[in-house]
Amino acid sequence: LLGDDGGLGVTIFEEMTTLAARTGAINLGQGFPDEDGPAEIAAAAMDAIRNGANQYAPGKGTLTLRTAVAHHQERFYGLTPDPETEIIVTTGATEALAATLLALTGPGDEVLTFEPFYDAYGAVIGLSGARHTTAPLLAPDFQPDLHALEAAFSERTRMVVVNNPHNPMGSVFSREALTRIVELAHRYDALIVTDEVYEHLTFDVPHIPIATLPGAAERTLTISSAGKTFSFTGWKVGWLSGPADLVAAVRTVKQFLTYSSGAPFQDAVALGLGLPDAFYNGVARDLKAKRDLLSDGLREAGFDVFTPQGTYFVNVDTAPLGFADSLELARRMPEQIGVAAIPVPVFCHPDGARRTRSLLRFAFCKKTEVLQDAAQRLASLKK
Ligand code: PMP
Ligand code: GLN
Repeated sequence: LLGDDGGLGVTIFEEMTTLAARTGAINLGQGFPDEDGPAEIAAAAMDAIRNGANQYAPGKGTLTLRTAVAHHQERFYGLTPDPETEIIVTTGATEALAATLLALTGPGDEVLTFEPFYDAYGAVIGLSGARHTTAPLLAPDFQPDLHALEAAFSERTRMVVVNNPHNPMGSVFSREALTRIVELAHRYDALIVTDEVYEHLTFDVPHIPIATLPGAAERTLTISSAGKTFSFTGWKVGWLSGPADLVAAVRTVKQFLTYSSGAPFQDAVALGLGLPDAFYNGVARDLKAKRDLLSDGLREAGFDVFTPQGTYFVNVDTAPLGFADSLELARRMPEQIGVAAIPVPVFCHPDGARRTRSLLRFAFCKKTEVLQDAAQRLASLKK
C-alpha cells in the first residue's frame, strides 16, 4: 500500500501545504478557509471548555448535536432521521467514510466511485480490502458519464460512493445523474454512501441530497461535516445518517477507531446547524464572489477555466499555457511564482490521470486580497 503512485504515501495536501510554507507561497492547494467561522459558534466551544465539557462525549455523539443534525435535515431536505438510532457523530467526515468502508465492505467486494475521487476514498477502500472501480466525470461540467457508470456496476458492486458537490471537480450532480445512480444501486443491490460536506456551498444550483430521491433512503448513508459549512475545518466534527442497521454497523467500527469525538465542539456545532437561513445564504454568496474573482484571474493568466457550481475549488486546464503535466507544474509553482495548487491526476487511477494530466485545482476559500495577490502572481506564468 505504500508508495507515491496513488498508494498511502504522504497526501498531496500535506506535500503542497509543506511546500507552500517553506517557500512562503500563497496556499491555494489545501482547501481550508483563512478566516474563522461565526464568532458565536467559537464562543460556544470556548464556553463548553470553561464549563467542563472536557471528558469523553457519548460514543454516538451528544444528543444535542444528533438532534440538531436531525432538525437540519428536516429543515433543508424534508428528511426525518431518528437521532437515537439513525445518526452518529464522527471525527470529521473522514472518520465517517473510513468507518463506513471498514464496516460494510471487504475483500471480494467492489466499491465504485466517480473519478477523479477525493484521495481518502482510494486509501480507505484499499484499507477495507475491497476493489476500487471508477466511472469518469466528463469535462467541461464534470457530471457523471452515465454509460460508463452503468458499465462499471457489476454483481460484486457492494457500494457506490457519491461525492456531491464534488471535490475536486466542483460539480453539483444533476437530478438525472442522481436518479440513474439510485436505479443502478437498486438493480445491483448496492449501498449508496454519499459525502455531502459541501452541501451548503453551491452557487445558483440546488444541492439535491441523493437520500431524498424515491427509493434511495433505505440504502443510503449520508455523511457531512461542520468543517466546510462553518469554516472550522480544524474541529473535525462530522456525522453520518441513514437506516438504523447500517448506522449501527458503522458505529461498531467507530468505537474502535476513536470511540468518541471532540466533546466541547459538538454542542457548538449544534448551535451552528440552527443558525437562520441568512447565515447559510451568506456563506454561499460570499464564496460565489470569491469563485468569480479567482476564476477571472485564472482566465486572465491564460488558463482554460471550468466554472464550478459548488465547493471551494476551481479547476483549470494548463495546456493553453504550454504545460502538459500539472503535477510537475504544481511542484514548481510555489518556488517560481509563489502560488500553491493541487494537480488533479493525484485524484485518479492511471487512465484517469492520463485524461486529467494538465488539470490543476485551486481553492478560492481565501480572503479577497489574497485571491487578488494570487491572481497577479499567476499572470506572470505567461511570460
Ligand atoms: N470529503 C470531502 C469531499 C472533502 O473535501 C473533505 C475535506 N474537507 C472531507 C471529506 C474531509 O472532511 P473532514 O475534515 O470533516 O474529515
Ligand atoms: N478537503 C481538503 C481539500 O480537498 C483537504 C483535506 C486534507 O488535507 N486532507 O483540499
